[in-house]
Amino acid sequence: MIDKKLLDILACPLCKSPLRYDKLKDELICRADRLAFPVRDGIPVMLEDEARTLSSEETDALYK
Ligand SMILES: [Zn+2]
Repeated sequence: MIDKKLLDILACPLCKSPLRYDKLKDELICRADRLAFPVRDGIPVMLEDEARTLSSEETDALYK
């Protein structure tokens, strides 16, 4: 889990869009880039190299 206040100030390092937190997977999602950034010990890892690419199905499921 990550802090709600922290989530409010976080943005995608690539496109600067707000991120969505996926509680189930403990990841921060950028819809525009279809990237999922990991959260380790409550610390979001906002590095493109560490991010996982999401399929369009996964992204759609998160935002429906
Ligand atoms: Zn982005």
